[in-house]
Amino acid sequence: MARYSGSVCRLCRRENLKLFLKGERCYTDKCAIERRNYPPGQHGQARPKFSEYSIQLREKQKVKRMYGLLESQFRRTFSLATKVKGITGEALLVLLERRLDNVAYRVGFASSRADARMLVRHGHLLVNGRRITIPSYFVRAGDVVSIGEKSRQMTRVVAAMESAQRRGVPEWAEVDREALTGRIKVLPTRSDVTAPINEKLIVELYSK
Ligand code: SF4
Repeated sequence: MARYSGSVCRLCRRENLKLFLKGERCYTDKCAIERRNYPPGQHGQARPKFSEYSIQLREKQKVKRMYGLLESQFRRTFSLATKVKGITGEALLVLLERRLDNVAYRVGFASSRADARMLVRHGHLLVNGRRITIPSYFVRAGDVVSIGEKSRQMTRVVAAMESAQRRGVPEWAEVDREALTGRIKVLPTRSDVTAPINEKLIVELYSK
């Protein structure tokens, strides 16, 4: 499956939730969810019918879209989560939070996860001083994520750092805004994911 190239706001409208895919715009009244809070398409305003399967599917799609993954990438992460000791659904969310592109977004280096992924892919991010270009790289407790020396003046990074103050930094990380570094104090846990997600539905879907 190719990467989705349509309007990302349609994805939020489909999931009936702000997925924060468009950076600054998501916090303005231009947000499509604020303006047209119903699913896109010709039958968007029709009364929906929900089956057990469709509810599980929507939950999976919501999380997958929130973190900007393709089905195969999401499946792979789920498969890794099944190998982690403990509750699979919670392990899945923790693994998603530990992705380097997500961490770059959470600490404020980028205004959206898509932007963060671009930063990683283009080699602007360092982990413990080493350049990492794999967005799915899982950070560990104690890791220091930073912006490369030559990339610090990039307009999108400077703008993202400014606007990120509104979002705040998660408990599990600490940010030095001057040095443009973020340290992973501890690994994130389920309770750090505050978006309304019922991960049990995803586990049920994949267990069929
Ligand atoms: Fe979603 Fe952001 Fe578009 Fe609003 S502006 S619909 S939150 S992507």
